[in-house]
Amino acid sequence: MTRQRALIADILQSSAGHLTADEIFRAARARMPSLARGTVYRNLKLMEAAGEIARLELPAGPDRYDRTPAPHGHLYCVVCGALRDIPQSTLQPQLEAAIGAPVLGYQLTVRYVCPACRPE
Ligand SMILES: [Zn+2]
Ligand SMILES: [Zn+2]
Repeated sequence: MTRQRALIADILQSSAGHLTADEIFRAARARMPSLARGTVYRNLKLMEAAGEIARLELPAGPDRYDRTPAPHGHLYCVVCGALRDIPQSTLQPQLEAAIGAPVLGYQLTVRYVCPACRPE
């Protein structure tokens, strides 16, 4: 693992877990000023291909990278764009029972209005 890749992994692990490539680049360059944007983007693709991280496509805005590669769902606030993990659910075993085969992955994005954006 290169130093650059280790740095990117550390940034994702120590964040709330769902960063855009640009956020990762800015955090990484703050710690390694010589780092090029293309290096960060290339490493993110490699890490995604290796199954170390996951890439999330959202209803709006740029993709975000997830430190948790195991399949899990997300809550997406349509007002502020905040993204949270859905706590460990029984969805995967239910899907596997329904289709009679192991689930390799899925994308579940639940759109809602988060508590901070809900009117009193
Ligand atoms: Zn919100
Ligand atoms: Zn997640």
